[in-house]
Amino acid sequence: MKYCLDCDWSTVWTDEPSQRACSRAAIEHYVATGHTIDSSDSTVCPTTPDV
Ligand SMILES: [Zn+2]
Repeated sequence: MKYCLDCDWSTVWTDEPSQRACSRAAIEHYVATGHTIDSSDSTVCPTTPDV
């Protein structure tokens, strides 16, 4: 998962259709707020093929 160090924002891989969407959501939060995004390695991103 990715989570914000400055607020309670977070995103879990299973809530997103793909790792790319997850990363994009994190980037959008960073751009919108300037907050620091960190990621947890305890949950591994699923590798969803682009079809
Ligand atoms: Zn935040």
